[in-house]
Amino acid sequence: MPRTAASVAQEIPDVLIVGAGIMGTICAWELAGHGCKVTVLERSVPGAEASSAAAGILGAQAEAHAPGPMTELCLASRARYAKFAATLVKETRIDVGYRECGVLQVAFTRQTVSELTRKALWQKKRGLPSEPLTPRALAKYEPTLSPKLSGGLRFTADARVEPKALLRALHIAALQRGVIFRRGSFVRRVVVEGERARGVALDDGSILRAHNVVVAAGSWTSLIDGLGLPTGRVIPARGQIVELELPAPPLSHVVFGPGAYLVPRDDGRVLIGSTLEFVGYEREVTAGAVRDLLVQATAILPGLAQAALRATWSNFRPYTKDELPLIGRTEIARLFLATGHYRNGILLAPISAEIIRAAVLGERAPLAAAWLEAFRPERAV
Ligand SMILES: Cc1cc2nc3c(=O)[nH]c(=O)nc-3n(C[C@H](O)[C@H](O)[C@H](O)COP(=O)(O)OP(=O)(O)OC[C@H]3O[C@@H](n4cnc5c(N)ncnc54)[C@H](O)[C@@H]3O)c2cc1C
Repeated sequence: MPRTAASVAQEIPDVLIVGAGIMGTICAWELAGHGCKVTVLERSVPGAEASSAAAGILGAQAEAHAPGPMTELCLASRARYAKFAATLVKETRIDVGYRECGVLQVAFTRQTVSELTRKALWQKKRGLPSEPLTPRALAKYEPTLSPKLSGGLRFTADARVEPKALLRALHIAALQRGVIFRRGSFVRRVVVEGERARGVALDDGSILRAHNVVVAAGSWTSLIDGLGLPTGRVIPARGQIVELELPAPPLSHVVFGPGAYLVPRDDGRVLIGSTLEFVGYEREVTAGAVRDLLVQATAILPGLAQAALRATWSNFRPYTKDELPLIGRTEIARLFLATGHYRNGILLAPISAEIIRAAVLGERAPLAAAWLEAFRPERAV
């Protein structure tokens, strides 16, 4: 019998994925690339939540505060980005804005600059290069920055990407690999029978069966029943962003300054981020946050005062108490999680997808088991 669209939709997929943010979509793309039939269930529009709202900083070193599993995870993912971005461009012809631009961390006082330099010592021991910057060196790299800055640090290997373009490309590439996306599918619970995940139940009462279930529902993960996780394991941490535009890009690097970071785009837009607020699922952009971000940003880059104000938005980082993601198999057989990536979900997408693919297919994990233990969904917190 020929495989019609209707019969394909009725087949039991190898993998059902809940959520079409970056995590759900990249896991779908990765698994479909390894021969799996994958269906992604999305309650609204693929990519519409945190993943498209992100600034797109790939700050494996700028965001690293201590040696350990999280730093190793971030470095492993950053190392995969150039190939990942190139593959997406090849598959879709969409420029995902991947730029190996480097990240600067800057400060107004000499004391803070020395603290930054001291903090970077452990990275040096780990073999991760960074360049200490005097005010003169800083001005050479970025002449538009405030002359009041006392210097900083340059992380050459950190990069950036444009999340909206990345999500569009990833969605198209996943479709081309045969992934089915079902919009408007609101998952209520994972169906568990005999201590094994068998599928999911939607809010209209229907049951969708699958051989494996991957939950990648971002900040809404803990609202889904049947995961076997304590209440509030993943909660929303709101971040607000202001987008400005100048006639030409004022920066070549991403700049982390006191109170704000600045992310340049090639077309002259500059993103200013971001707040960190625990306000539940309140989506408002607030006057106070916009004011504070603009004050901090114009102190770092005075020329931004002349920029056009283009947009503001907010969304929710999936936060966990220990600030580590939940990635991999759970204690319920055939149920996997890819969630809780908090501030670094865009950066961590390629390695997370590989971990999930290896777990679902029973392959060797791409990271040492001792590191992966830190991200085990049921770990004690
Ligand atoms: C302001 C801001 C700036 C950021 N900047 C960066 C950055 O520079 N670099 C970086 O690496 N990271 C950044 N992040 C973090 C990053 O955006 C997140 O870690 C990442 O996007 C999380 O991806 P996700 O797929 O888990 O979640 P999401 O993108 O939120 O996707 C989850 C999806 O699941 C769907 N869903 C939820 N519940 C259900 C259900 N019951 N049934 C069906 N579908 C459901 C949702 O509709 C949504 O589409 C930033 C985040 C914010 C908010």
